[in-house]
Amino acid sequence: KPSPKRKLVHQLERRNTFLSSALSLSYDRPLQMHRSAFQYMYDTEGNAILDAYNNIMLVGHSHPTVVRAGQRAMAKLNTNTRYLYDELMDYSEQLLSKFPPSLNKVFFVNSGSAASDLAIRIAMTHTRKRKVMVLEHGYHGNTRIGIDISHYKYNHQGGPGQQDYILPTPMPKAFGSGMPDDGTAGRHFAEIATEEMMEHQDIAAFIAEPIVGCGGQVPLANGYLKELYPKIRAQGGICISDEVQVGFGRLGDYFWGFEMHGIVPDLVILGKPMGNGHPIGAVVTTTGIAESFDNGLEFFSSFGGNPVSCAIGLAVLQVIEEEGLQQHAKETGDYLKSLLDELKRHYPQIADVRGSGMFLGIEIEDKEGAPNTVLASRLKNALREKNILIGTDGPFDSVLKIKPPLSFNRTDCRILVGAIESVLSDFAKK
Ligand code: PMP
Repeated sequence: KPSPKRKLVHQLERRNTFLSSALSLSYDRPLQMHRSAFQYMYDTEGNAILDAYNNIMLVGHSHPTVVRAGQRAMAKLNTNTRYLYDELMDYSEQLLSKFPPSLNKVFFVNSGSAASDLAIRIAMTHTRKRKVMVLEHGYHGNTRIGIDISHYKYNHQGGPGQQDYILPTPMPKAFGSGMPDDGTAGRHFAEIATEEMMEHQDIAAFIAEPIVGCGGQVPLANGYLKELYPKIRAQGGICISDEVQVGFGRLGDYFWGFEMHGIVPDLVILGKPMGNGHPIGAVVTTTGIAESFDNGLEFFSSFGGNPVSCAIGLAVLQVIEEEGLQQHAKETGDYLKSLLDELKRHYPQIADVRGSGMFLGIEIEDKEGAPNTVLASRLKNALREKNILIGTDGPFDSVLKIKPPLSFNRTDCRILVGAIESVLSDFAKK
């Protein structure tokens, strides 16, 4: 039997043979995954690994209700939206019932990227305008348009740079701005965006996440969207909320992220948790916008809205409801945040703990108050050695990201925070 080390070397060799090195691998010591269940993953050595990072497996890895729904549907019928079948209408009805009444038409696709790409096409068709306002450090997808609208990618080393139809505006981050988050910071950043918009006047869409994930788990400053949305609309553009990471109840107090900002977008994009790992994405929009998009050109996706995906999506909604996962995200998330706030009082390296429910970020700083990329990376890798998965992100990769499957419980919170504390206290001793 080959040793674990030999197996790892062999896997890496095969990976390098078949895949491009443009794909990245997490951790200095990569993980060889074997199985998963709820908030746990199991590597090929049989180690149980606590997953505090995977916001795709919303209701838990391999949740039996979702698995069974997929297996049954796959054995029964698979086809596309050019035929009639109940699963499509059942799922559309359930999904749309989660939205305010104005958001009442859905387009199904197979990824968050396909959804954001379609969203921009819809916005341009509806408004007959061509510019797109985006947040600095935002990410929305891997297609050509996806990269165009993702400052996080186009502005990165190796990225294609900013296209002429893109208007980036600063991420409205209250923390570190020197302004309070009582609406002051929000108004300030909205003014900057508005000035930029007035100069160009050709904005088809403004797109933002309610909490900027890749930007470092940054909740948009209070009042920002409330201030900016009316201005975008007055100029003839539409407002898009990217709910790919934060949607479906993870935030605890809110089923959708836009609710935390007290606004209703014109269009929403969905992905990741929607199928609990099965590839489903969607655009949800208003009747008016959907009608403009029906300009004679058919919209068709081979897989978008197929009965298997619909059955899986429906099962995810069912589990969220049956298991009270939104409420659980609130209670467990509040508990986790309180433990992290306590840690922040003892360790100056923690500059900020933010987010909502089970979508949290921890900003790591050095003694001078500068982003501490090295320590954040050390924390992520040390936790991996303790069989816990978290991520890092943000402009300086200095923010720890916590967004576990919603089966995550209070014991898991204590294990996670205890592990972070032990790394920080080792660090403080050195
Ligand atoms: N929007 C956001 C906010 C995302 O985080 C991602 C994926 N990281 C996407 C869109 C694209 O989704 P996908 O990877 O499913 O194409």
